[in-house]
Amino acid sequence: MALLQIHQFPCLSDNYGFLIHERLSGVTATIDTPDPRAINRELERKRWRLTHILNTHHHPDHTGGNMRLKESTGCIVVGPRADAARIPGIDLQVGEGETLEFGSAKARIYDTPGHTRGHIVYYFASENAGFVGDTLFAMGCGRLFEGSPRQMWDSLQKLLNWPGRTRIYCAHEYTRSNGRFALTVDPENRALIKRMEEVERLRAEGLPTVPTTMRQERRTNPFLRPGSRGIRAQLGMQGADNVDVFAEVRRRKDRF
Ligand code: ZN
Ligand code: FE
Repeated sequence: MALLQIHQFPCLSDNYGFLIHERLSGVTATIDTPDPRAINRELERKRWRLTHILNTHHHPDHTGGNMRLKESTGCIVVGPRADAARIPGIDLQVGEGETLEFGSAKARIYDTPGHTRGHIVYYFASENAGFVGDTLFAMGCGRLFEGSPRQMWDSLQKLLNWPGRTRIYCAHEYTRSNGRFALTVDPENRALIKRMEEVERLRAEGLPTVPTTMRQERRTNPFLRPGSRGIRAQLGMQGADNVDVFAEVRRRKDRF
């Protein structure tokens, strides 16, 4: 049974804001703080009172509104222990394997270094929902600003263990450009070709492609498919380790 209401809205140029609300206890969290004015506006529309900020990583489009929202609401700031010094206003530090109680709902925390050193993601098993920040995107993954391909591949493998039905709430609408890149390394993938037709149609209508699902990502996201024969053939890396194929896909995306 679903315990949470999840409310998604666009922020800044290509971020998504997410508010999650647990009715029984009356708690409400924002996943990151991309735009405090937009977050306040949506809170008012929903008539929800902000009690938590759940940060995924330190980048300004994720923590830039922390202090303003904390001062105006008195909410608790939750963030990665591994990067506590760079999370403004942090009150509660969490890390790998821990459980965050959010009203009657529970989020399991995963450390997912790669995009940044201290990135974490929040997984609500009861909701089949993962809030993944800039670790995983629809048909993409975060740039490796502070981590190695090995670290990021290890992080993504944790998410690959989630059930296929898991809805993936990523922090940016990057899907169309990710998909166009994906076709260059996985051009024969029928599921990918079909999905891109759908993505182009949705974006032409101004509709979101987030959330995605883990099932969909397993079939179409080249960063999760380094074992794919098609991708390996396209890269000329038939005998390579998964991590090396992943690294090459990431390198090519950086230059795309
Ligand atoms: Zn980021
Ligand atoms: Fe971001």
